[in-house]
Amino acid sequence: MAVIPSLIIASIQISSHYLFFKDGKDQTTLSILAVLVWGSYYLAIYTPPGTPPKGYRIDRTVSPQKTWYKYCTKCKQDKPERTHHCKTCKQCVLRMDHHCPWTMNCVGHENMPHFIRFLVWVLVATSYTFWNLSSKLAQYYTNRHLPAYLFNTKDVFLVIATALLSFFVLFTIGILFIRTFFSLTTNETTIENWERERIQTQFYTEKFWIKIRNNYRIIHGKSLPTLTSWKSNYRELKPDSNIPPNFSYDDLIFPYDTNSAFQNLCSALGPVYLWLWPWGRPREDGIHFTNVNEDEDQLNLPWPPDGSNFESQSQEQTVSSWSNQLGETLDDFGVDVSTEPYESSKYI
Ligand SMILES: [Zn+2]
Ligand SMILES: [Zn+2]
Repeated sequence: MAVIPSLIIASIQISSHYLFFKDGKDQTTLSILAVLVWGSYYLAIYTPPGTPPKGYRIDRTVSPQKTWYKYCTKCKQDKPERTHHCKTCKQCVLRMDHHCPWTMNCVGHENMPHFIRFLVWVLVATSYTFWNLSSKLAQYYTNRHLPAYLFNTKDVFLVIATALLSFFVLFTIGILFIRTFFSLTTNETTIENWERERIQTQFYTEKFWIKIRNNYRIIHGKSLPTLTSWKSNYRELKPDSNIPPNFSYDDLIFPYDTNSAFQNLCSALGPVYLWLWPWGRPREDGIHFTNVNEDEDQLNLPWPPDGSNFESQSQEQTVSSWSNQLGETLDDFGVDVSTEPYESSKYI
């Protein structure tokens, strides 16, 4: 049960309704926002995130699937691209974003719009409450020299407590919303955003490029061609380095980014006129995605290009142990890390 978030939201709503009532203020907006918050919360909790069809098997007659594919050892079936296995939900989740403890549900392809709507309505409702309570506090401050019997101490305490609680919700949900929303503008899930950070920190290392060259050979059956950059690079490399001299992190293409923030948002949230509609959903199926940048994508490897494969023999940080600046590992997003590596008969 999402007891804690429910209690926090309910406390803010009950006390603000009470304070509005005592001041003889109109409560219509407050009530409409409460319905929108609880309705979207219900849908975010109970809408399944989307799972691959039973017995899903990718077409192994086409490249790269015939040599390189993701197989879920828990569900005993193939994983479509962008799918991860959630260790809490114990199932594969299409376009998995993260497992959300606030909704006790995975946020994935089917319910991302519900999750975003829930965050939006919480932010709008809490901002409205916070704004009203702040003006009330300002009023108390202006009248602070008036006799004490004119103030109801319990009400003053309630206003301060509710305003503080609203600020806490605005701050935490605000960060979560900004992070999720900005990832969606580049068509990335939170997990893919984490993967990109991981790749960025390893981009100019020998180990990363050994993996890339190896993966390219497995998938395309030939050596990685000479890569070119759209900008000048001045990196001094050892003569036998695996790192390409003229290829920078900025040249790396994220295959799902359409290069239009609006198009990317529509891909995750559906058409713009349905973004705030309670049942709006994305048009895509969450299984098939096209790489619109195929022509510019010099690496031409499935995402993530290093394949999430483990180097258990080496001292190198593995995909399961790598953490970003916030200290988050893949496990923190709810992913069952043991099901992450690409399968390949030719790998290693
Ligand atoms: Zn699975
Ligand atoms: Zn989950």
